[in-house]
Amino acid sequence: MKKKKLKSRKRKGAKPRAIAAKRVVKGRPTVRRTAKNPPVRALAVRSAQASAIIPAAPPLPPKLKIGWFSFSCCEDNTVVMTEVMNDHWQEWKRLFDFRHARVLKSRNVMDAFDIAFIEGAIASEHQAASVRDIRQRSKKLVAVGACACIGLPAGQRNTFTPEQQAEIAPLVARFSALPKVLKVSDVVKVDAEIPGCPMDPNTFLAKVNALVKELRGV
Ligand code: SF4
Repeated sequence: MKKKKLKSRKRKGAKPRAIAAKRVVKGRPTVRRTAKNPPVRALAVRSAQASAIIPAAPPLPPKLKIGWFSFSCCEDNTVVMTEVMNDHWQEWKRLFDFRHARVLKSRNVMDAFDIAFIEGAIASEHQAASVRDIRQRSKKLVAVGACACIGLPAGQRNTFTPEQQAEIAPLVARFSALPKVLKVSDVVKVDAEIPGCPMDPNTFLAKVNALVKELRGV
């Protein structure tokens, strides 16, 4: 019976089963390799050769670490800063690492800063200690807005009459406030001041760009 079947295949010109099986590797049909369709190993060699010819791009300089701090004020300079940031986000995200900026994130880090921006006047010894701490962590410290630069309008109580001072004395004691509101430069060395109430966005941007150039040495 078997002999009969083989004979009938030969007669009809059909390929024997053993030869048909050679064209299948573990159930997959074999792929014909050509110059346009080289084997994977050849592709790896080509890519290694290409990377040996093309020089690697220079590493990007590290991002500048930024701290943004608000003391006694209305925080309108923070609003200006976020508006400027929105307009320049593509450049800023490559340039800056906001380590501390409560308006931008909830997890803030107090480590070393390349640039620390301070808005607001200094109204208590606790605030003065914080500013001294920020100063010793920062390469550059910038006072932003009138309150930080001249102590006003946040420090209006400095201009009160003796009667008005007596009236607010219980509040001053209750909040452990200093007898007089201070500008930032009364407490620490300031590298740059951006005046205005609030600060002017173009002046702020120009100062930021100048500091980036100075710190990057370009
Ligand atoms: S300078 Fe003016 S805008 Fe800025 S924090 Fe002080 S009061 Fe607000």
